[in-house]
Amino acid sequence: MIIVMKAKTTPEELQEVLDTIKELGYQPHVIYGTERTVIGAVGSERGKDKLLALETLPGVEKVVPILQPYKLASREVKQSQSIISITDEVLIGGDEIVVIAGPCSIESEQQIIETAAAVKKAGATVLRGGAFKPRTSPYSFQGLEEEGLILLDKARQVTGLPVVTEIMNPGDIDLISQYADMLQVGARNVQNFALLKALGKCKKPVLLKRGMMTTIEEFLMSAEYILSEGNMQVILCERGIRTFETATRNTLDLSAVPLLKERTHLPVIVDPSHGTGHWKLVAPMSFAAVAAGADGLMIEVHPHPDHAQSDGIQSLKPDKFSEMMRRLEQFAKAAGRGWRRAADFA
Ligand code: PEP
Ligand code: MN
Repeated sequence: MIIVMKAKTTPEELQEVLDTIKELGYQPHVIYGTERTVIGAVGSERGKDKLLALETLPGVEKVVPILQPYKLASREVKQSQSIISITDEVLIGGDEIVVIAGPCSIESEQQIIETAAAVKKAGATVLRGGAFKPRTSPYSFQGLEEEGLILLDKARQVTGLPVVTEIMNPGDIDLISQYADMLQVGARNVQNFALLKALGKCKKPVLLKRGMMTTIEEFLMSAEYILSEGNMQVILCERGIRTFETATRNTLDLSAVPLLKERTHLPVIVDPSHGTGHWKLVAPMSFAAVAAGADGLMIEVHPHPDHAQSDGIQSLKPDKFSEMMRRLEQFAKAAGRGWRRAADFA
């Protein structure tokens, strides 16, 4: 249920409503809007009508049901677009297109620092790199694990770029949080509910990738798992779904972007690297993602894709990435979006 408070409510009135929601067995989440405060009361669907009685409390304007099964993620509860801060300078969900770039896997100090410097120069404002890799085969490179995190941190210190890296196991949250500015949940873990709940209790922004077989509703329900535990800093990433098509690695569902933006206040970015599986398709689909209204992009870049430990075929070389970024800046501006490079930060 959504409890809409009157325009002028005292802190005591708000507190009474919060206490009553808890007494009724529901969890209140306060959302402060520019004009008024609303409270999302979430919990079991059964018996939720008892929350209607909150209308009798002072300060409450009305109580309305949330129609979607995802509650805190929905535009019903929060109409204004959420803007998530990766750092004080890098905000996702606002006017500016944010480009996250870097290798699929962190492989060596030289590789990650060279890539970080190149993507920064080209205009990316967040560095990506996997240290714990979810591989289809147990015999494939599994990532450098903590050593990879240490190298990622070095690249962050050298370039000043904030970093995002994948987490697969709830037990690794403390370790990865020491190094990363944002934690990525990969496609294969989108319904790892133990992981999602644990991330809901942590303070870092979470980049949640759509699973290769999750519907939009299931995707938003996964986001809801994180939000319902108290972490409202979730960014969604469309990365392609599995269809009958085999010419591309996945089918990049760009219609998901405007659809998600209609249904949720959470920022939405697009990963055209995994979405297509081929470097030649990355630039065209990046332009298309911006045209579809994405808040940002995540792109794999590797200095020597032919020697990459993972996903070389879909990785752009730094010069190709730089050329794409030059065109993307003009494209984004023509689409009415803002564009800032790390060099523009104060
Ligand atoms: C990745 O970003 O390297 C990755 C493994 O992506 P996905 O989970 O989308 O396959
Ligand atoms: Mn990859």
